[in-house]
Amino acid sequence: MPEHSPLDVPEGDPFGPHNLPYGVFSTPAGTDPRVGVRYGASVLDTAAVAAALGSPHAALLAAPTLAPLMAAGRPVWQAVRAEVTAWLTDLAHRAAVEPHLHELDRVALHMPFEVGDYVDFYSSEHHAANVGRIFRPAEEPLTPNWKHLPIGYHGRSGTIVPSGTPVTRPAGQRMGAPDDPEPGLPGPVFGPSVRLDIEAEVGFVVGVPSPMGTPVPRTDFRAHVFGLCLVNDWSARDVQPWEQRPLGPHQAKSFATSLAHWITPLDALEAARVAPPERTHPLLPYLDDTGAGEQPGGYDLRLEVRVNGEPVSRPPFASMYWTAAQQLAHMTVNGASVRTGDLYASGTVSGPEPDEVGSLLELTKGKGPWLADGDVVEIDGWAPGPDGLRIALGGVRGQVKPTGWTPQER
Ligand code: MN
Repeated sequence: MPEHSPLDVPEGDPFGPHNLPYGVFSTPAGTDPRVGVRYGASVLDTAAVAAALGSPHAALLAAPTLAPLMAAGRPVWQAVRAEVTAWLTDLAHRAAVEPHLHELDRVALHMPFEVGDYVDFYSSEHHAANVGRIFRPAEEPLTPNWKHLPIGYHGRSGTIVPSGTPVTRPAGQRMGAPDDPEPGLPGPVFGPSVRLDIEAEVGFVVGVPSPMGTPVPRTDFRAHVFGLCLVNDWSARDVQPWEQRPLGPHQAKSFATSLAHWITPLDALEAARVAPPERTHPLLPYLDDTGAGEQPGGYDLRLEVRVNGEPVSRPPFASMYWTAAQQLAHMTVNGASVRTGDLYASGTVSGPEPDEVGSLLELTKGKGPWLADGDVVEIDGWAPGPDGLRIALGGVRGQVKPTGWTPQER
């Protein structure tokens, strides 16, 4: 009986030849970090195969981050994807490729690229309305601007960490509430957050930069965005409502954001493109995606959130009101540039059903329970692929660690 080859992934494997997400890895033998492609339960050392087969892309793939490949542009992305597909599926390459597949659980996975600017949007109508009802019960759930522009804020890129990195419970200022562990306090208190939460999101990774003063039209989205990945935007719900008016979230979000190791190229997600929800308000021309012949701007991604192994929610990304193409157009319409490595996240993905919401805030209607020290949060996802196959997204995982410093006296 022939020995099993890692090239023979089972038929229908969601990390099969139709997927091919990119990451950065090193081996226990001490290889330098380089570009890898996930294939089944293995990682393909694309740098080694490219060198062995004389690929013109060998230098891009030997880099310690995805940034050079991301910056190279869509024609190169498509050429490399075609090359990797041939390496993995063409019998002629089998002997050259097989030695360069490493078992996934025997490699170290690294931050796939250095994040430049980080913007987080707020693009689920269900999430925005749910949060509005909880944080601003006396007001309309959606603010008057919500259906006219994709609302976002600038986050902290320096605390974006790869999946698996422990997340230390943040400390911060909160206004005492009736159900606070220290109730009846007359003013703000400082200490470890008592309402630590998650936000299940999808991040979009900018590959090709744009110059200042040159807005990127919606229709150029695929020329600039390299791929997408799962994101967990950890959030302190006691810090957030006290600090965020009028300028938006700050310390409630900036302590940590977790990023999946694997970036799924947009070219793997052709079969997952869907039209976004019906637009209920007329849009300004730079955002208007309702015209005849418009390419579908949404993606049918199905997320799953697990806390300590228990599924708690299955958020549907197809329900997001604003698309990633609209978000890119909006980010640059004022003349701002984007750079290779910029990351912008969708905002919490929440669908219309109670078990489709992407945060504990919504799952528990603001009452908790919240995350405890030691809790493990995992977000996975998949998308429909070609021929009825599934495209798995790389998961994002994090465990909560206790606050590691002594809260100052209040
Ligand atoms: Mn968020």
